Amino acid sequence: MTAHTESLAPLTQEQENLFWSKVDKNGPVVREGLTPCWVWTGYVNHGYGSMMIKGKNYRTHRLSLFIIKGIDVHEGEACHKCDNRACVNPDHIEIADRKYNMDECVSRGRAKYKYSCGVFHHNAKLTDEIVASIRKESDGGVSRGKLAKKWEVSLGTIKDIVHYRTWKNDSTEGVRSSIPKK
Ligand SMILES: [Zn+2]
Repeated sequence: MTAHTESLAPLTQEQENLFWSKVDKNGPVVREGLTPCWVWTGYVNHGYGSMMIKGKNYRTHRLSLFIIKGIDVHEGEACHKCDNRACVNPDHIEIADRKYNMDECVSRGRAKYKYSCGVFHHNAKLTDEIVASIRKESDGGVSRGKLAKKWEVSLGTIKDIVHYRTWKNDSTEGVRSSIPKK
């Protein structure tokens, strides 16, 4: 997977036209209260729409945010409210407050995957307090498996916490430093 984190340059009209030519605005309504998904009908990579600009591939939900709202989010900092990765409807794309986003990823035990914020679970959020409690309980002899179950996170997440690979000092930095650069 190639990912580019450099800032986006403004698209030419031609590039924008090409972009919109591959968007189907009559996509499914995946959840009550959401507008229809705008489905990317072009090339899809790992479930995400992908468009090549000057020889580089960019995720199309990122391009959509950039074209419509002028916001350039780095990839991995935007999540789909609709869980539809190929969707480019800006109303469905939640620009993650970085900490929140990472909390979500970690809570799903998937922080090692930079991009997999597709699924939102609002009931399994880790906080500094929970992390402290996990470490305390682990020190006290509670098994990691039990802790994973209790907090609805993966065993890997518990291990990372116990070994201080994540949540080292302040939560955001700790989590971020656990993400591979490339
Ligand atoms: Zn959508």
